[in-house]
Amino acid sequence: MKHVGHFIAGSIVGNVEQTSPIFDPATGLQTAHVTIANAAEIDSAVAAAKEAQPAWAATGLQFRADMMLKLRDAIKRGHADLTGILMAELGKTRSDAAAEVDRSIEVLGQAASVGSWYGSTISPGVSRGVDVQEIRYPIGVVAAISPFNFPVMIPILQSAMSIVCGNTVVMKPSDRNPSASLRIAQLFQEAGLPDGVFNVLMGDRKSVDRLLEHPDVAGISFVGSTPVAKYVRTKGVANNKRVQAFGGGKNHMVVLPDADLDMAADAAVSAAFGAAGQRCMAVSVVVAVGSVGDALVEKIAARLPGLKVGSPTLPASQLGPVITADSRARILSYLDKAEGEGARMVVDGRLYQAENTGWYVGPSLVDHVRPGTSLHQDEIFGPVLSVVRVQSYDEAAAVLAGHPLGNGAAIFTRDGGAAKRFIDETEAGQVGVNIPIPFPVFFHSFGGWKDSSFTETKLFGPGALNFCTRSKTVSIRWPDPSSSAIDLGFPSSR
Ligand code: NAD
Repeated sequence: MKHVGHFIAGSIVGNVEQTSPIFDPATGLQTAHVTIANAAEIDSAVAAAKEAQPAWAATGLQFRADMMLKLRDAIKRGHADLTGILMAELGKTRSDAAAEVDRSIEVLGQAASVGSWYGSTISPGVSRGVDVQEIRYPIGVVAAISPFNFPVMIPILQSAMSIVCGNTVVMKPSDRNPSASLRIAQLFQEAGLPDGVFNVLMGDRKSVDRLLEHPDVAGISFVGSTPVAKYVRTKGVANNKRVQAFGGGKNHMVVLPDADLDMAADAAVSAAFGAAGQRCMAVSVVVAVGSVGDALVEKIAARLPGLKVGSPTLPASQLGPVITADSRARILSYLDKAEGEGARMVVDGRLYQAENTGWYVGPSLVDHVRPGTSLHQDEIFGPVLSVVRVQSYDEAAAVLAGHPLGNGAAIFTRDGGAAKRFIDETEAGQVGVNIPIPFPVFFHSFGGWKDSSFTETKLFGPGALNFCTRSKTVSIRWPDPSSSAIDLGFPSSR
């Protein structure tokens, strides 16, 4: 059986004593196993990154920006491989998998423009003959911990900014689908990235704990579920590390009475059921305002029988399996609770009969979901769309305000005033107006609000600079013997 190892200092290594199985979610069958790092391997990955960092930081910003373009071309060359891995280890449909790789290519292209917004500052003449400069420096070794649901794009999002700013990376992907990170490392090496700049460490929660405590790790970039994000942030900060930790989402889509209902129904179905609902920016709650509820629910329900659930290997499939048998059981358990929580099952995904042993869940639509119930409160992370009915915009806004997560939110309306109010008042990091998944191009920043993130920084773009770099403030006076004197007072700016 295939064995997936680490990529440390340019070589594939890894013990075979501690391993974890890798499954094809489309069949439920084991296809490989992955090394789970022991303490020595974790230390050796961090040591490789630490050793490579000074030389990497000594290259120029423009050199590293050029390298981003080489890495981008390498991912283009590896497009088919990476798409295949996403289909085989995550169950993404071919078009969804290919779109993830396309987005990753864009990310590297955007990282190449870092010089336009890197922006160290200088204040000339702050005092007589004194200039002050604030200069950015890399922070050192960044440990990046990524989730299962975007195994190509998120590792690249987490590492591109760090690498272009002169840091080196130890990437720990999800142990459920780790092969994409390994392939990325090989492609980066082929493109000329020096060994040790991007290392991949296969591991589990114990590996994360060691990285959080490791004296040679300067920064932690975490993307995953909210409880783990909170834990990582708390423990990392206690160890005086710079930590950005991005958590889960429960994204609401508000539909006002003046919205185009066919457009809203198409958008809700696409955003709720794409990637089998396993996106942190998936729409999982439609908030139907006023009179739109019945017509909107009818239109969404009418679209669901047309969705093709099935193996990613079948070209017609639109909705693949979920990641594990446990995920499937968890998703079904929410559907089991729905009616007891006062909701009405309109389309029941439990009834979907898979043709094989894969971990499929049919698309589900649950109406009259009550705010505060588990169906509304929890991130289900599967193909389940809840509808909450309210009478007014204010009531809709209160439903969003009452939810602890704030990754994304969308409004469907033709009313510019309502849209403006929604943009200004909604507590979410990404807001869409008539766009259900407002996932930005990366010359803009990405990151959630409320319990969707535990950090002051962003995952990518200009907002990530304050994670990837630390600044030093330098006061400079060139020698002028005529103004030299002893002065024991506190420096003043006169
Ligand atoms: P997860 O939190 O279970 O795992 C994420 C990573 O943390 C993995 O590498 C895993 O090995 C590690 N991990 C798991 N439990 C841990 C623990 N107790 N201690 C230390 N490390 C631990 O998340 P997942 O199931 O892989 O991914 C899905 C989640 O990620 C969803 O909640 C989704 O919304 C979120 N997500 C968020 C964003 C974002 O940008 N905010 C993007 C993608 C996914």
